[in-house]
Amino acid sequence: MSVSERFDVIVVGARCAGSPLATFLQRAGLSVCVVDQAEFPSDTLSTHMFQLSGIEILQKLGALDGILAEGAPPITDCYMKFEDVDLSGPPRLRPHDPKVPMLCVRRIALDVHLVAAARAAGVEMRLHRRVVGLIEDDGRVVGVRTVDREGKVATLRADLVVGADGRLSTIARLTGARRYHVTTSERMSSWAYYRGVPKQPVAKVYYHRKGDDFVVAAPADNGHFVAIVCPSLDEREAYRVDGEGAYWRTIEGCAPVAELVRGAERVTKFRGLTRFEGFFREATGRGWVLAGDAGHFKDPTPGQGISDALRQVEKLSEAIVRGFSRPDRRDEELRRWWRWRDADAMQHYWFAADIGKRGPISPVLLEILRGVAANEELRQDFLDIFLHRAYPREVFGFGALAMATARMLADPHKRRGALGEAAKLVAEELGRRKQALRPRLTEKAIVDEMQFDQQTTSAA
Ligand SMILES: Cc1cc2nc3c(=O)[nH]c(=O)nc-3n(C[C@H](O)[C@H](O)[C@H](O)COP(=O)(O)OP(=O)(O)OC[C@H]3O[C@@H](n4cnc5c(N)ncnc54)[C@H](O)[C@@H]3O)c2cc1C
Repeated sequence: MSVSERFDVIVVGARCAGSPLATFLQRAGLSVCVVDQAEFPSDTLSTHMFQLSGIEILQKLGALDGILAEGAPPITDCYMKFEDVDLSGPPRLRPHDPKVPMLCVRRIALDVHLVAAARAAGVEMRLHRRVVGLIEDDGRVVGVRTVDREGKVATLRADLVVGADGRLSTIARLTGARRYHVTTSERMSSWAYYRGVPKQPVAKVYYHRKGDDFVVAAPADNGHFVAIVCPSLDEREAYRVDGEGAYWRTIEGCAPVAELVRGAERVTKFRGLTRFEGFFREATGRGWVLAGDAGHFKDPTPGQGISDALRQVEKLSEAIVRGFSRPDRRDEELRRWWRWRDADAMQHYWFAADIGKRGPISPVLLEILRGVAANEELRQDFLDIFLHRAYPREVFGFGALAMATARMLADPHKRRGALGEAAKLVAEELGRRKQALRPRLTEKAIVDEMQFDQQTTSAA
């Protein structure tokens, strides 16, 4: 027998986007139901460094203290190198910031606190239930059909259905939301967790891109340390044949991380992703809206998806609340939020895609970075991009590009090819700005991602 319930809002997905959105909406007086096929605590394929712009929202949700109690040290310093350019040092904090610029908490430990905050706010949680269909009335989405583990079907009705169901979103597929600005990954990732890594006097995130090698690492919750490699996709075969050997060859390229994990115990198998696409999706239509990765996924190398999902849903909750107080304006409120999302995320999207490119970094970009490294104020601005407090154009705009090119032209060792490289970067940037004005929508099917779990250890 099929059961039917009714709410103001149904949110599909209970992680970084879903549960926080539901919490804000329920607190604002709406009745909200969250549906997720998972039961929590539950892991998901994602590493998990996140920054101040998201941490502030975790504090508003009342979830930060519980998350900190998982034992992840507040990360207050960065080891950051691009080729030979050293941008290391602490990020800047403002007077009223939480004293936690960055954190690294495994998703199995993080997401459970988001779900708990939603429950505490009074949100109805329907876990272990998969959304398999939409209910529509005269072309407007008015609910979802779910099925539980025993195959029992239920219908949930609402004035608004939110797809917070990740990059392979069911709600996006069912509504036919099209994608734009699609990019294809040029690197793969592989990571593992360690115990027994010597404690640092100050917790640091490590970030080192050199040629095709890329290493990211940080101390995480409950005594774990995560070490991630993001080699070029050309290395896929080497990783398939000897994942551990290839992983170690990449880690060795970042001496401080290699030193930290060499004597430690690897306590999990290697996990990873060898192919994904970055995209924006049409964010809203009649009776539905997409939040978090469901609406926008970017190269995860700079680690900004979690904070961005939190930022997005805080703003989205305000738009939804306004829309419920003026139902005649609800659709327009959601479209306005969509425009805000794109404007807020666009520069960071291309920044992430550039960081995730394979091969050597353009010499002109490296010259800009040299200028950044030599000026503490600019170095802080650069780190602010990771904290989503500065937009990439503030550091890599045409002015910076012109100055770096001029410096290169004045240096006989750097002069060769400088103008051509600068012209390439200008053309790429202009192309992106033009594309932003007229996005090319694609109906192409969602890419088949390739994920892997490799080499079980005795402890895993
Ligand atoms: C390899 C990799 C590494 C990453 N590393 C980082 C990092 O270091 N830092 C960072 O900030 N971000 C990182 N990200 C990005 C980050 O994982 C996402 O941005 C973030 O998880 C987005 O949260 P979300 O709530 O939108 O989606 P998700 O976390 O994907 O949650 C979606 C939820 O929807 C549920 N769901 C899906 N379909 C259905 C259905 N039909 N019915 C019911 N429930 C459904 C799922 O069970 C899931 O719980 C990484 C991503 C990847 C892939």
